[in-house]
Amino acid sequence: MECDKCGSDAVLHAAYSGLYLCEDHLCRAVEKRLRRRVREDGLVPDGATPDDPETWVIGLSGGKDSVVLTHILHDVFERDPRIEIVALSIHEGIEGYRDKSLEACEELTDDLGIRHEVVSYESEFGVQMDDVVEDDPEGMAACAYCGVFRRDVLSRYAEELGADKLLTGHNLDDEAETALMNFLEGDVDQIAKHFESSLGPFEGGDGPAERTREPQDHHIPRAKPLRDVPEKEIALYARFRDLPAHITECPHAAEAYRGEIQDLMLGLEQNHPGTRHSIMAGYEKLAALAADAYGGDSETDFGECDNCGAPTARDRCRKCNLLEALEAV
Ligand code: SF4
Ligand SMILES: [Zn+2]
Ligand SMILES: [Zn+2]
Repeated sequence: MECDKCGSDAVLHAAYSGLYLCEDHLCRAVEKRLRRRVREDGLVPDGATPDDPETWVIGLSGGKDSVVLTHILHDVFERDPRIEIVALSIHEGIEGYRDKSLEACEELTDDLGIRHEVVSYESEFGVQMDDVVEDDPEGMAACAYCGVFRRDVLSRYAEELGADKLLTGHNLDDEAETALMNFLEGDVDQIAKHFESSLGPFEGGDGPAERTREPQDHHIPRAKPLRDVPEKEIALYARFRDLPAHITECPHAAEAYRGEIQDLMLGLEQNHPGTRHSIMAGYEKLAALAADAYGGDSETDFGECDNCGAPTARDRCRKCNLLEALEAV
């Protein structure tokens, strides 16, 4: 088949739009959607100036999504003195997995010449995910522990690095799965939080959303500039641009419910192209309404963890409870 834009050999048929695209036009389309999302979400605030630039910390795992995000953002903002980009990687302590992907992170950030920080669970908490999985004092999935530790590290280091925003590489598939999981779990509170923490546009965004997110007192705001781009297109982009992305999956990746949702979504998308887009279009509107009704973290009574000082609605934060349980093993 031929590219609908230029007649060269097509490498992708995007069933949801009906378009056939060649290598070059696929890459341009990915870049365009990311730039549009940056605009629509108002990620560059009016107040950012060369003297007082805005700092974006990118969560860089070395997987295709965060590698593509870092590459394109660097491309777009390299010569914009209002924006500073720092990449932050986490070493969870997973044998044979993270070392390789960190090599990819280093290669990329060296190539681009951007600052790169690496933090490990070992140095932060004295634990390695491989041991956590072995001990498993709470009878939980690996990702449940890992997610708590990751959130803690990301928000603390984002703050330390002076981040105004924390950007992650979540793609359209990830976001549509999360949306569907929140629906199916009936978790309206979570939907409201999703809007306030990463989905809602900032002041100054020029997208169709009717409402911006409320400023959060306790967390560095997050954004996901690749959330309009399907996973497959990001993988192709990484390949065609020859980016050093690490493809292997984490050996502990077994979030069973998400796996089921992934399979469901795959089938739906195949039979009804555009399902992911329509889920997100409706979800964003509903999430804005849920945020109106349920509020963000300003509504929650946040205090500080007695042990580590992290923001928490309880006396001790979840991370400290998990670390204590691990120590007791
Ligand atoms: S898949 Fe789960 S255990 Fe592995 S790095 Fe991701 S969150 Fe951690
Ligand atoms: Zn083309
Ligand atoms: Zn704590």
